[in-house]
Amino acid sequence: MNLNFGKLAAKLAEISDCEVKTNEVLAPYTSYNIGGPTAVWVAPRTEEGIASVLEIVYASGAPLFILGRGSNLLVSDNGWQGVTLYVGKNLSGWTIQGRDARVLAGTLLMDLITAMVENGLAGMELLAGIPGGVGGALRMNAGAFGQEIESVTVSVKGFLFDGSPFEASRNEIDFAYRCVPSLEDVVITSGHMRFNMENVAVLQERMNDIVALRAKKQPLEYPSCGSVFKRPPGYYAGALIEEAGLRGEKVGDAEISEKHAGFILNVNNAKAADIYALIRRAEERVLQRFGVRLEREVKLIGEFEKEKHPKNLFE
Ligand SMILES: Cc1cc2nc3c(=O)[nH]c(=O)nc-3n(C[C@H](O)[C@H](O)[C@H](O)COP(=O)(O)OP(=O)(O)OC[C@H]3O[C@@H](n4cnc5c(N)ncnc54)[C@H](O)[C@@H]3O)c2cc1C
Repeated sequence: MNLNFGKLAAKLAEISDCEVKTNEVLAPYTSYNIGGPTAVWVAPRTEEGIASVLEIVYASGAPLFILGRGSNLLVSDNGWQGVTLYVGKNLSGWTIQGRDARVLAGTLLMDLITAMVENGLAGMELLAGIPGGVGGALRMNAGAFGQEIESVTVSVKGFLFDGSPFEASRNEIDFAYRCVPSLEDVVITSGHMRFNMENVAVLQERMNDIVALRAKKQPLEYPSCGSVFKRPPGYYAGALIEEAGLRGEKVGDAEISEKHAGFILNVNNAKAADIYALIRRAEERVLQRFGVRLEREVKLIGEFEKEKHPKNLFE
């Protein structure tokens, strides 16, 4: 199909309260600070605006990618030849009522957790330090230290890629370890969360301990996407990579962290291709040495050697 992205961008710009850019470089939107341009970048400031964007994009047949806070992504150096729908600070905020919070998808997880802790609301404080947004966290079922976003979720709202409304309660959503198949084709716009009441000082201390523990164990001084791989059953990905002799391994300015081998860092000006080469090297070496197939947690966007991502409705 021959797509006219200029025409598509002009049509999207007619939606009220909606920012549209063409050839926007994606690197600044990612925690890796890596990635080339996207054909069209669109950021509606309302949920209705998201529905309008989706209807137009769906009708055009253009491939769509949903960008949250960009903390679990590796975007190709050549960028993403499609539409990037940004659900970040343009769609942020929450309301609290008793033990319940209704949260817009672009809200930074850390802002939400801090506010919940200040209100004596427990259930997400162990996720403190995860740099993503609420939509991305729901889509990934983000978690840490035995707590996952699933456990506070009452329901999720959004739209299907054709713009039709979507709403599901927690028991209708197949939350699993860092994946939620039933949310794969949903643009999440908000979540309804329910918390438990706990002492504010206790929660604050628990949250601060977690943040300190992360700083001690994780190489937070360099850009990364956190753990590149999921934990294989019975193992730790970082330990396998380290035992395979890859700690400190470098390609260009990409490096397998000395501090935590599950992290691949951008130590200066790494290319997506450099990070990707280390991902492949770790996968191959761990498979050869231990017979364990590492599964990626990071999402690859755009074209990489022999691979095309993401798979979406229109491919
Ligand atoms: C230093 C560091 C530490 C980390 N530690 C952890 C950790 O302890 N535990 C953990 O689980 N993760 C961790 N992560 C990974 C990451 O922060 C989480 O996966 C986070 O939930 C991703 O959210 P995001 O908004 O950044 O999503 P993005 O990276 O923007 O996107 C991730 C995926 O979600 C989709 N998506 C994003 N927003 C929406 C939406 N509104 N609707 C539908 N789909 C959407 C995207 O299309 C993509 O497929 C870490 C990352 C870093 C950099």
